[in-house]
Amino acid sequence: MNLRRSDEPRRSTVYTEAMEVFHRAAGLIGLDRRVRMELEEPDYEHIFYVTVKLHTRLAPLPQAEEAKFSDLPDSELLPDGLEPLLDGSFVFKRRALIGANAQMRDGVLRLKGKAGLYKVIPGRPERFKAYRVQHNQARGPYKGGIRFHQDVSLDLFKVLAAEMTWKTAIADVPFGGAKGGIKVDPRSLSSEELEALTLRYMYRLKPLIGPDLDIPAPDVGTDASVMGLLLRQYTDGERERHKLRGVVTGKDTRIGGSEGRVRATGQGLAYCIQEWFADRGSTPAGSTFILQGFGNVGSNAAEILGGLGAKLLAVNDAGGTIYDPNGLAVQDLVAYVYDNPSNLRRTVAGYPKAQQISKTDLWDVPCDICIPAALGGEITGPVAERLKCKIVAEGANGPTTPEGDRVLAKRGIEMIPDIIGNAGGVTVSYYEWIQNKRMEHWSETEVNGRLEQAIKSNYRIIRDISRNTPRRTATHNSTRHCIGKEVDMRTAAMVLALKRIEAHYQLEGFSQ
Ligand code: NAD
Repeated sequence: MNLRRSDEPRRSTVYTEAMEVFHRAAGLIGLDRRVRMELEEPDYEHIFYVTVKLHTRLAPLPQAEEAKFSDLPDSELLPDGLEPLLDGSFVFKRRALIGANAQMRDGVLRLKGKAGLYKVIPGRPERFKAYRVQHNQARGPYKGGIRFHQDVSLDLFKVLAAEMTWKTAIADVPFGGAKGGIKVDPRSLSSEELEALTLRYMYRLKPLIGPDLDIPAPDVGTDASVMGLLLRQYTDGERERHKLRGVVTGKDTRIGGSEGRVRATGQGLAYCIQEWFADRGSTPAGSTFILQGFGNVGSNAAEILGGLGAKLLAVNDAGGTIYDPNGLAVQDLVAYVYDNPSNLRRTVAGYPKAQQISKTDLWDVPCDICIPAALGGEITGPVAERLKCKIVAEGANGPTTPEGDRVLAKRGIEMIPDIIGNAGGVTVSYYEWIQNKRMEHWSETEVNGRLEQAIKSNYRIIRDISRNTPRRTATHNSTRHCIGKEVDMRTAAMVLALKRIEAHYQLEGFSQ
């Protein structure tokens, strides 16, 4: 039996580090000891394996082996049957051989029109590690994204699942927290392989989830098309399958997705930033910002803030970093990244109308707002020392390390923490779930109207907790949440989450 008391020192891991703020807030509000234990570790940690068959590939031949094939003539294959992958290899489909003129020796061929020689790697089954962590369901069904990425781990999913528990409470939507995914680089798979992997993942996941039990959504490496596949696999053959649409959110609007969902996380972040300016009697117009990550969250936040008159000065993503002191044309950059078939990695790198700078230079760009919207742990202590902004507005999950937080606080740089900053996604996921239950379809104006009201009012409650200014009006009440002293915004957000969750345990009691 584990008799460790919850206030004894913990072994430091990504998870225990991420839980620092939980313990700080729990201590401040004197969170009930048993509730603290319930929340300290996830309800369930599922780890399982999925296997898929990988297609035959043509992989670049190592240079050292090229000499003995120098006389090999060109082979002409139907280009339609070769799917390029990011590692320089091609997925080889049988139709490549239609009308082909191929010359192969020892499994090596020289592709006409492509530099170099390629070796045939026969198709084979491959095993991938998959996860679903269900952290807490005191307030409603588990809810959280599906991540396909090569750097995931149980510890990381525990962090992200717990974050969802806090986020759903802060957004005041009736869900708990979960997260899961597969340890895979999706860019190393063909579209058909990715589909097979996604279907197999849902096949294994099906007993664990459901529209009133656990509701996945997109995250890094997954999107609306992956949600469509998950939906089909979950509902296939079910007699009342239309009633099950709410099993995943973030679907395409044509199959039950909500208007405004794709932009919702960036939109929610923009509402928080607007509220930050409004508190100072100002607006984002004329302000400047830098951005890390130009995916769903980053590119949408950039477009929305651009529309509000803010100027994007620099962007870093997995491929590189670009800078224009006069401001980047956001729409043009979106077209360069997303509408350009030769930009396979969907990166801002190489954007011709900006200077290419190094990633570390990004943090030195003077601006009003810094938006991390990529992966976690990027704003470390040393990065926080370099930043020349007034506020960090977190779009990504956990982008600032605890040391980064301390440095930002010391330097007087303000913070919109992730659990409110990127809560727009889960809030509109909730709207999607309600629409699915009611078989309704709301307009984007209706969705955004509700989202703005929800994000701004919860942001104001967090600000009141942070400043210890309890207020009660006809539409706002922070009196129940303020704790009699000032705290930083991240702690304030956690206080709000814990008070809302604790109420369920206090008022409903514990099931035995
Ligand atoms: P995405 O896959 O669409 O985009 C990720 C972006 O990050 C890409 O531009 C990629 O190039 C960049 N990136 C990846 N690795 C990087 C690195 N090492 N350095 C710099 N840039 C890197 O993902 P997304 O949906 O935009 O999610 C981004 C973040 O926001 C994640 O932390 C995710 O958990 C969080 N988030 C997303 C949503 C949502 O609705 N999509 C909701 C809440 C939180």
